[in-house]
Amino acid sequence: MDFIRPTVIDIDLDALEANYRRICEIAAPAAVMPILKANAYGHGLVPCARRLESLGARAFGVAFLEEGITLRRAGIKTPILALGGISGRQIGLFLQYDIDLTASSVYKLEAIERKAEEMGKTARVHLKVDTGMERIGVHYYSAGPLLEKAIACRHCEISGIFSHFATAEDEDLSFARLQLERFLECASFFEKHSLPAPLRHMANSGAILQFPESALDLVRPGLILFGVSPAPHLAARSPQSRVMSVRSEVVYFKVVAQGAGVSYGRAWQAPCQTRVVTIPVGYGDGYSRRLSNNGSVLIRGIRYPIAGRVCMDQFMVDIGPSGAAYNGDEVVLIGRQGGEEITVEEISMLAGTDPRDILASLNLRIPRRYYSGGQAVSG
Ligand SMILES: *Cc1c(COP(=O)(O)O)cnc(C)c1O
Repeated sequence: MDFIRPTVIDIDLDALEANYRRICEIAAPAAVMPILKANAYGHGLVPCARRLESLGARAFGVAFLEEGITLRRAGIKTPILALGGISGRQIGLFLQYDIDLTASSVYKLEAIERKAEEMGKTARVHLKVDTGMERIGVHYYSAGPLLEKAIACRHCEISGIFSHFATAEDEDLSFARLQLERFLECASFFEKHSLPAPLRHMANSGAILQFPESALDLVRPGLILFGVSPAPHLAARSPQSRVMSVRSEVVYFKVVAQGAGVSYGRAWQAPCQTRVVTIPVGYGDGYSRRLSNNGSVLIRGIRYPIAGRVCMDQFMVDIGPSGAAYNGDEVVLIGRQGGEEITVEEISMLAGTDPRDILASLNLRIPRRYYSGGQAVSG
């Protein structure tokens, strides 16, 4: 069933490897924990993890327990940390599948300790300190009880302590510097008690690229692993190997009369008699509806504009009064064709959103095809 559709997402695992190696160089001597949440930013959780495991990644970060379980069931042995909040009833599964837990409050750490004791296991825990994101974690100014509790737990191994930047990709790093200071003060607790220090980690993509002092023991790259830059001013420093391309085919060709409206709401009207082709992809695949009358695609190496609204499963493209395109022609939505390229950054700008939103929205209705050494490989 997989490749019945003429639409596919191609993933270049060698490009992923090149970006990973580049990040290792930038972050050294810090270790690297690739962040593979949301189906590895749409690139496919298990195949990306397999390649990165073969390269010796120190650990993987996911958002949720179930993403970690998927990796374990696929045979991934690398340590996995679920970065998000946990609910009490999940703790047994974390321990069963050997997935590191985020402890973001004393209450949660106590629940982990109790469950680990009951199951006769040692839980691996990373403490989460909130230094200014106001998402999860104990506030840096009241982290004392969590740290005290952590060193008193007998069934938890404290593997890490971490925080998260709110503004690491801004040009102005003053708040990021303040967050790092707050974090280091908390993390110094272990040193002050002459205890072995857990892994300290804080740096996301933006921080890895422009705030090297924040690399500490471990960095947590997400977006830049996939060759996408987090902000225009960081594009030149960001790893450059594009991992994903999205391709489809022309499935219909028609001539549209001058003044005819195209698609729902007739929000685009042909300025003259023109040729319009239909592409069998839509917002039901995660191709943003905000690209209506706004985005473009590549056909035969030429860039053409989307005409009218993107529908759930199809959209139309104006190839002009004398444009050439035939049923079955390749259409590139993201990626290169001839000398032209459509980037995730470009699309996210047009859609008025973040590149991560564009990537993570591409859902499982589009099959992924994996390449290595120029050849298709199984996921
Ligand atoms: C998503 C996430 C990251 C990775 O962020 P990027 O900016 O995409 O590199 C790192 N740490 C945490 C806690 C996250 O939630």
